[in-house]
Amino acid sequence: MAFEFGSVSRRTFLASSAIALGSSAVLARASAAEPKKTVGFALVGIGKLSMEQLLPAFAKCEYARPVALVSGHPEKAKEQAAKYGIDPKNIYNYENYDTIKNNPAIDVVYIVLPNGMHAEYTIRGAQAGKHVLCEKPMANTPAECAAMIDACEKAARKLMIAYRLQYEPVTQRAIELARSPEAVSVIKQVTAEGGFNIGDPKQWRLNRKLAGGGSMMDIGIYALQAARYLSGEEPVEVTAISYSTPNDPRFKEVEETVAFDLKFKSGAVGSCVSSYGYGCNRFRVYGTKGQIQSEPYLSYQGNRLWQGEDRQGNGLEITPGNHFALEMDHMAQCVLDDKTPKTPGAEGLQDVKIITAIYEAAKSGAAVKIA
Ligand code: NAD
Repeated sequence: MAFEFGSVSRRTFLASSAIALGSSAVLARASAAEPKKTVGFALVGIGKLSMEQLLPAFAKCEYARPVALVSGHPEKAKEQAAKYGIDPKNIYNYENYDTIKNNPAIDVVYIVLPNGMHAEYTIRGAQAGKHVLCEKPMANTPAECAAMIDACEKAARKLMIAYRLQYEPVTQRAIELARSPEAVSVIKQVTAEGGFNIGDPKQWRLNRKLAGGGSMMDIGIYALQAARYLSGEEPVEVTAISYSTPNDPRFKEVEETVAFDLKFKSGAVGSCVSSYGYGCNRFRVYGTKGQIQSEPYLSYQGNRLWQGEDRQGNGLEITPGNHFALEMDHMAQCVLDDKTPKTPGAEGLQDVKIITAIYEAAKSGAAVKIA
């Protein structure tokens, strides 16, 4: 009697298995010879961040590579394209940006424009069929953030907000320790500060339409992020005070400093500061068992982390990584593996919602609940 697997005879089964095994061996050999798959990025806006951090960081990426530039300055774009081996044919401007839809080399657009332009260029990018990585803050208002999420969903494209710290090892270790029963135990308070003394009064960061607000939108968002990712909770209520030096030409349209407090559901509190008037760059997590602290925590490199009340030496030994390369590679891997980014549009929307509540609390002087 013939040995059968269901309706398939043993001989047929063995013959087809051999073909399958043979072909998988051929496939394995072919893939070993194939170059690693990469994802093409178009940088939209080539200002300071793009030129000083992002373009150089591609050299450290495994999966992300620069293939196009979108700029209002053709000469600068040509120069940067030549420097980073980008085909000059792949230089676009803000008017012909939508024609990127005809360029299959571009998989992802990375929006590195003033905050007030993030929504428009994200939506146009998604409508051109591209995945979107967008700088922080996601946009000026929650309504703009919602429209960006909607456009990417409709186009079935991924949307990630470029919260670089969430992709780098010092922050990741801090989050791990903040969750640890031995290091911290029950979190009671997170303090986080972000600030610098801003220069040129004419820059877009001090223009309400382009920036959406002052220090809170730009640097205070790091303190808010830290309070959220370190506590692992969402605030249910905020209070705030805001201050701008009278007659300082830098603060005609936007605020200088915001001190804001967050109440979390567990009873933990966040005490945070944001400023365009002075430098500050540290956080501390206080728990029932112990504490962790970091200073600086939001710099591009050299961030340091300590466990305990005292600061011993330079802190914990953590192998650093390039924040931007790690972040861009994460986006590229999400595209290659069809995964949702760790910091999707919803993460950006949540910050902008809370910032809106912080501004409302500062204006009214009353606590504002967050839905
Ligand atoms: P930047 O001023 O250096 O560059 C802005 C770019 O936008 C320039 O190329 C400029 O030509 C272009 N642009 C187009 N229209 C403009 C207009 N109407 N006004 C001004 N510029 C216009 O700014 P940046 O520091 O590169 O910041 C860009 C974005 O990146 C912002 O959203 C910012 O919040 C974000 N950012 C993030 C980090 C980070 O660590 N993740 C650091 C810096 C900046």
